[in-house]
Amino acid sequence: MITAPIQTASYLLASILFILSLAGLSSQETAKRGVVFGIVGMFIAVISTVLGEDIQGHVYILTAIVIASVIGIWVARKVEMTAMPELVAILHSFVGLAAVLVGYGSYLKPENQAMTGVEHNIHVIEVFVGCFIGAITFTGSVIAWGKLQGSIRSKPLIYPGRHFVNAVLVIVCIVLGVMFTNAEPSMGVIYLTIMVGIASFIGIMLVMAIGGADMPVVVSMLNSYSGWTASAAGFMLGNDLLIITGALVGSSGAILSIIMCNAMNRSFFSVILGGWGQVATGEAKAMTGEVTATDHDEVAKVLEDARSVVIVPGYGMAVAKAQHPVYELVNKLKKGSANGKEVRFGIHPVAGRLPGHMNVLLAEANVPYDIVLEMDEINDDLNETDVVLVIGANDIVNPSALEDPGSTIYGMPVIEVWNAKKVIVMKRSMATGYAGIQNPLFFKENTNMLYGDAKDSVDKILAHLN
Ligand code: NDP
Repeated sequence: MITAPIQTASYLLASILFILSLAGLSSQETAKRGVVFGIVGMFIAVISTVLGEDIQGHVYILTAIVIASVIGIWVARKVEMTAMPELVAILHSFVGLAAVLVGYGSYLKPENQAMTGVEHNIHVIEVFVGCFIGAITFTGSVIAWGKLQGSIRSKPLIYPGRHFVNAVLVIVCIVLGVMFTNAEPSMGVIYLTIMVGIASFIGIMLVMAIGGADMPVVVSMLNSYSGWTASAAGFMLGNDLLIITGALVGSSGAILSIIMCNAMNRSFFSVILGGWGQVATGEAKAMTGEVTATDHDEVAKVLEDARSVVIVPGYGMAVAKAQHPVYELVNKLKKGSANGKEVRFGIHPVAGRLPGHMNVLLAEANVPYDIVLEMDEINDDLNETDVVLVIGANDIVNPSALEDPGSTIYGMPVIEVWNAKKVIVMKRSMATGYAGIQNPLFFKENTNMLYGDAKDSVDKILAHLN
């Protein structure tokens, strides 16, 4: 057992470690240290809470922790890097569900039922708001998980008057909230349950209305919601550390969402309100031109002759796990050239399925950070580039985003690879990417398609270069 002052000191230490963890995660060089701070902070947080003076039933808590840790370790070891966004989304849903359960528990706790006056009002409002945000986070995250996994169509589900319906539902929840504040517990539970049902429906409809290309913002937004949910649970449980941790997650998730919206030229409110003012204005343009295929030998020759090469990786590089051979290719091109070939990477902010997905993969393959450039840094140089290798990317190099107002991704900045002298696109087929739309890049005169699994293709190009 630990005393209250020691618990407060531990909470303070854990909070500092969480802040250091976030600071560490802000750059690739310090990210590992950030993760270690986070782990140590969470360990201190859990131990000092479980050993607190007012905690009973240690055997049950310990059993739950052991079972959950085994499941957590098993899932984390098993999950493929490509399935990480789905895992993150489903973990957010657990936070939402936990907040709803904490809300019911806190409302029905006999000591809390005995509260009166202002204390009672504050408590029931905490319960109501916590359950509202928790239910939206829970169902919204489950839908996001389904969309990322492909079991739910990524196309936005939009029906006329949906904003009006959502607004009416929110007003009904507010009315229920007022009735809940003044209700006897037996009726209160009924009002709470009706509100949880409505909020769950709002969560489903909000995320269902969001289209493929806006999903990255939704994932970071749900991350933010899960933080505010945890904070609300902290208020209900009277746990300061949970309030602080939730606020850190909530605000960092909100900042990330805004950064991603800016990067994608989307209005933050348009995305979180489920596509308010969708940018597509009509039918997408039909594809014109011919698709030209190439082979590994030809690509090897093109690369040998090039002076400047830019590699643009996308989700397909993650699927193929091609990052190691890609870095081998970079080294081969740089070493094998007497004329000082320049080889760099161009990274789109929403490439892959997770913010920073490509940076993580390239860091894992030990690619030096100084040759990994952001979209804005590389776009101006593409006019002067001899060859762009597009490895398993599609939406992030789609010219429709700039040229076709009818396209669902119109307005999103993309890497303008077609400005280079030659573009080689490595993918397995003519299939569309996450946004589910065709790509006119593949039909351009200076583009050649190299069909096949990205890792297999890079290995074969390496063999030809040897
Ligand atoms: P895309 O999903 O647009 O395209 C990936 C391409 O990779 C596919 O067209 C596929 O074509 C190809 N591919 C798949 N497997 C392989 C393989 N083994 N070898 C070679 N190619 C392969 O990915 P992008 O990275 O270009 O764009 C990201 C998209 O995901 C954007 O629409 C973004 O909005 C969305 N998104 C991003 C998130 C983020 O946070 N980064 C989160 C959620 C969504 P084929 O089948 O023919 O091989």
